[in-house]
Amino acid sequence: MMKCPNCQSKDLGKIGVNQYYCWNCFIELSVGAKTIHTHQVEEDGSLSSLDDLFDEQARQLG
Ligand SMILES: [Zn+2]
Repeated sequence: MMKCPNCQSKDLGKIGVNQYYCWNCFIELSVGAKTIHTHQVEEDGSLSSLDDLFDEQARQLG
């Protein structure tokens, strides 16, 4: 079961192919082959990467 690397919540909504939204901390997650990428949605609608905030290990799937 996938969980948010930021808040560990499993309350994730699917918003697209391999894309999820965390309803708990409001970040967007995109799922790669083995890693989850994290993005913050800015006020203007653009995405900024949050990957630097997490260890590679924290973003591993499984
Ligand atoms: Zn979260």
